Amino acid sequence: MLLSSLDCAGQVHLVVGISPLAVNRIRSAMSANAQVVLVCPDVQGSRYIGVRELIKNGRITWYERNFEIDDLRSLGRIDAHRIVDIAYFLDPVYATDEVLQLCRSLRIWYNVADSTASNLRFLSTYTKGSLQIGVTTNGKGCRLANRIRRHITETLPANIEQVCDNVGSLRSTLQAAINDNTSVSDSVGEFEDDSAHTNEFNRLSPEYTSESEETAERQLRYLSQAVEYMPLSRLADLRIEDLTSPETTQPTTAGPERAKILLVGAGPGSVDLLTVAARNAILEADVVLTDKLVPQQVVDIIPKHTTVHVAKKFPGNADNAQQEFLDLALGYALQGKTVVRLKQGDPYVYGRGGEEYVYFSERGFEPLVIPGITSALSAPLAAGIPCTMRDVADQILICTGTGRRGALPVFPEYISTRTTVFLMALHRIEDVVQGLFALNYPSDLPCSVIERAWCPDQRVIRTTLRDVAAAVAAEGSRPPGLLVVGHACAAIHKTATNAPYTVLEGLT
Ligand code: SAH
Repeated sequence: MLLSSLDCAGQVHLVVGISPLAVNRIRSAMSANAQVVLVCPDVQGSRYIGVRELIKNGRITWYERNFEIDDLRSLGRIDAHRIVDIAYFLDPVYATDEVLQLCRSLRIWYNVADSTASNLRFLSTYTKGSLQIGVTTNGKGCRLANRIRRHITETLPANIEQVCDNVGSLRSTLQAAINDNTSVSDSVGEFEDDSAHTNEFNRLSPEYTSESEETAERQLRYLSQAVEYMPLSRLADLRIEDLTSPETTQPTTAGPERAKILLVGAGPGSVDLLTVAARNAILEADVVLTDKLVPQQVVDIIPKHTTVHVAKKFPGNADNAQQEFLDLALGYALQGKTVVRLKQGDPYVYGRGGEEYVYFSERGFEPLVIPGITSALSAPLAAGIPCTMRDVADQILICTGTGRRGALPVFPEYISTRTTVFLMALHRIEDVVQGLFALNYPSDLPCSVIERAWCPDQRVIRTTLRDVAAAVAAEGSRPPGLLVVGHACAAIHKTATNAPYTVLEGLT
């Protein structure tokens, strides 16, 4: 199979028979500026509303009858001797050997639905602005082709359309400058008068008038380099003025001055809850250093060619692992790499992000910090807890159940209109509850334990302070998880009265 793209402008594409595929086929032909002729006895039924609309609006021609073999050589355009350009047999019944033989002898490309007897096969396609991507598995499976296409397109930066447009316009501007100068120098002998220089480009940009041809050629070379090496998304903002030296178009890995460290929030657990900025950073990094907590779904989008390290944090080794990671990140940055420190939730909420910022800044790499959706706010939401709600709660407190070096923290006083979220608290839930009771928290105060929020195996336990420790002991732990305390926990979903606690499994 030869992969290519067809210029179909002005062609006649014949659609034979009808099927639910019709609208898509017709629309793609129309978007390639082909004229569509449909031959089929009827277009009744709810599945064909789209086709009827196109007929009614005069966008396509409809012959209300059965297909006849002669249609192949009578419904086409005049300048092709009435031979149609492409035939789509939506109903394979019409694609007899005789019909297909005639197609071949008339050089008509044909596609027969649900059959490999086609000499024109469709790709699984993706279009964004001027970019088109087509995937085929050569008959091995169209679902698989779709999946592969999705896999490819997921790695594209969100601004790929602007990337194509910008590179296209830079190229044509520079090429116009080169062509214009060629014609100017060619014509110097004939027109010594400056009025021969009629090109807008030269008139408006005096810097191009003297050595402009040479400059434009050089810039075109730099542009090719930039297209090869620059992170794709950055090509959208590249300007002619940036194409001044090879350095500006070098890859980010060119030298220490190009290195970057990014502290990136990975959100609570779902790829859908990554920010666009975080996603782009992950896709463009040379190296990703990820915390163990960062969920697999997010780790999975790291491109295969990217170097990945997972922090070896386990109880007792957290400080060592952290230092090892800082050194590793710095080492890569010194080699000129773009390093993403991927952190669960938001980097500045109990993520040691602040410390890392100071550490890297002091060593000459001021990090770019990309926020993430913190589990502290998104886990309650996933469990149907509105952290603030009129007449229920008017403040939120985020705190930790684990103080410095594992000590118990100072617990906050009881305020009935406050929702308190405890991170890193479940492994010592008994101590936390005792600490709160010592501060006069009511024992029937609603609370919830939310584990692996936004992950497919999310679990929520709804209960009261009195029963929460026993509930966690009975159900076991599924880290990471947090505890939410306050009346907001029962604002939408009431606490069960007939059982000490209720458990909800999975994303609801
Ligand atoms: N920076 C992170 C918090 C890091 S501290 C953020 O903003 O979310 C680690 C604690 O976060 C865990 O002990 C747990 O209490 C909480 N946590 C992180 N992800 C979670 C999730 N998906 N569900 C519930 N709790 C989570």
